[in-house]
Amino acid sequence: MDFALSGEQAAFVATARGFAADHLAPHAATWDEQRQFPAEALRAAARLGFAAIYVPESLGGAGLTRLDAALIFEELAAADPSTAAFLTIHNMVAWMIARFAGADVQARFLPALLSGARFASYCLTEPGSGSDAAALTTRAVAHGNAQYRLNGSKAFISGGGVSDLYATMVRTGGEGPRGISCVLVEKGTPGLSFGVPEKKLGWNSQPTTQVHFADCPVPVANRIGAEGEGFRIAMMGLDGGRINIAACSLGGARACLDLARAHVQERHAFGRPLADFQALRFKLADMATDLEAARLMVHRAAAALDAGDGDATLRCAMAKRFATDVCFRICDEALQLHGGYGYIRDYQVERYLRDLRVHRILEGTNEIMRVIIARKLLESA
Ligand SMILES: Cc1cc2nc3c(=O)[nH]c(=O)nc-3n(C[C@H](O)[C@H](O)[C@H](O)COP(=O)(O)OP(=O)(O)OC[C@H]3O[C@@H](n4cnc5c(N)ncnc54)[C@H](O)[C@@H]3O)c2cc1C
Repeated sequence: MDFALSGEQAAFVATARGFAADHLAPHAATWDEQRQFPAEALRAAARLGFAAIYVPESLGGAGLTRLDAALIFEELAAADPSTAAFLTIHNMVAWMIARFAGADVQARFLPALLSGARFASYCLTEPGSGSDAAALTTRAVAHGNAQYRLNGSKAFISGGGVSDLYATMVRTGGEGPRGISCVLVEKGTPGLSFGVPEKKLGWNSQPTTQVHFADCPVPVANRIGAEGEGFRIAMMGLDGGRINIAACSLGGARACLDLARAHVQERHAFGRPLADFQALRFKLADMATDLEAARLMVHRAAAALDAGDGDATLRCAMAKRFATDVCFRICDEALQLHGGYGYIRDYQVERYLRDLRVHRILEGTNEIMRVIIARKLLESA
């Protein structure tokens, strides 16, 4: 077991950190406040290979591992968790296409996703089914041999309206997970429309909308995998997605810890720097320890996914649950250490706190992570 970064890893971590400092950090507060989608910055990230981090090189991707991706996303999220998180979803869809689509679909869609010319969204959740995702009702009915017609609605879709491609889980068969397929729907398809962007607590640099399908014609050739395989593909995408979102939590929490560490040394109370009070020193110590524990779990889960270990899903669920909970708490403690200033936008901590809150809810809520963990434990007992 080697915990040191390889030379190559150290190099792309440095690249990601430099990119985040130059292209994300100076604008993150404005994008948050003005709800601006930073398409240009995302394209610049794509030029560094960050739009297809774990897509194989043979398909034009960076060909890195899940662990590498976690390292990169932590760096990007340390500047802007919301924008980094959008990139994680785009990466997840690019990987789903690389892993499960036929050569024709890969050739049609991957190059533009890898270059950042087009962005991708992942559409699983519906107004009536979130945690119980296998109950989805958006239906794709065959219309002749070559076409489906889609009807239904998706809810809470990150990138809704700004993305160009929507990896959409639809029902092509009977009830339950085995009746679900995954199809790619292009923006501009007749019958595809978007709700108004939701007004949110955080994640403001990317729109979240409903996505509606009204007799929307989609070529059968746009399906990823066989009919009935869509739910399995969606869940396999989410294993990696959970690592990625947990890595974004690591980045946000690290930034908050750094801000708090600086603040307690600068700010004085009772004639001494705050950093002199043992109660606050202990708080910092616990934050740093918790962050380290979370990072180890995320990296361990990523390594399990890379190795194709049988317990990878369990580890991904554990890491996502632990890291997103602990990192949110670190942001909250950092805010508390800032006193009233923590509540003020200029001090940044409140933006990280708002952005990290949703990581405990999406890509499967942390309650659903416990459902998965408990199921796996009891299966293996
Ligand atoms: C900003 C944002 C962006 C999102 N982006 C996307 C996206 O890009 N694509 C996408 O498909 N979805 C996306 N989602 C949706 C997200 O994945 C869902 O909100 C999430 O899965 C929870 O579903 P729900 O909101 O329907 O909550 P519900 O399923 O209604 O759950 C409500 C509460 O009940 C709990 N609960 C439910 N079932 C159980 C159970 N069996 N045991 C214990 N507790 C349970 C949940 O944990 C939760 O606390 C996004 C959501 C948000 C807020």
